[in-house]
Amino acid sequence: MGELRLDDVRKSFGNLEVIKGVSLDISHGEFVVFVGPSGCGKSTLLRMIAGLEEISGGTAEISGKTVNNLPPVERGIAMVFQSYALYPHMSVYENIAFPLRVEKLSNDLVEQKVHQAARILKLEERLKHRPGQLSGGQRQRVAIGRAIVREPSVFLFDEPLSNLDAALRAEMRVELAKLHDELDATMIYVTHDQVEAMTMADRIVVLDQGVISQVGTPLDLYHKPQNLFVAGFIGNPK
Ligand code: ADP
Ligand code: MG
Repeated sequence: MGELRLDDVRKSFGNLEVIKGVSLDISHGEFVVFVGPSGCGKSTLLRMIAGLEEISGGTAEISGKTVNNLPPVERGIAMVFQSYALYPHMSVYENIAFPLRVEKLSNDLVEQKVHQAARILKLEERLKHRPGQLSGGQRQRVAIGRAIVREPSVFLFDEPLSNLDAALRAEMRVELAKLHDELDATMIYVTHDQVEAMTMADRIVVLDQGVISQVGTPLDLYHKPQNLFVAGFIGNPK
């Protein structure tokens, strides 16, 4: 469970090809970070994996199953966005519970799962609050809680911390690393922030205009950037 395989995945919007043949193997439990400048295709690639965007060519496999034509809810994934998309009129509890309500789980099971997520995310004291009464970091944790309760084998994060200030970002980086250890899930994390990539990733995938420029551990990329693009973005400038 939780493996991901992309084989020559492509995406065109009209005549514009924005993902130009991406192949990649991710193992269960890996924390993989996609980096690259704005517009290089990071979100599009993630959205294709999530099923929010149709795949124009190639194949995507999640947990050994081809998902090209599978609806998002059947892919075993959960996605966390930069904009939290919380329901302002609902409590934190109901925001986290929302996906389980949709699945019509029993109240007992909902309560059990929401409390487990709240414990992991240190939101136990906040369950009765509305999103408007929370800090940015707490709101982002609620959004992550809503992903956790679905118990996905793959988590997809699209620049989840970019709305937070630097201190909160640093704190959330540590929390996400802990979460990764605790949940034993595969995580794919999109950012344009080199520090996030270098500190969080097991492996980094550098995207440049819709193609993979290099894949490697943070140290690989830092010490042996394969080209000037990677060197400029992440590598050792010397
Ligand atoms: P990133 O997340 O790396 O900033 P995106 O994946 O959002 O990049 O976008 C990659 C390219 O695809 C950009 O040129 C963007 O304008 C284009 N693009 C993204 N979504 C659409 C769409 N729905 N229709 C047309 N072009 C799009
Ligand atoms: Mg994006």
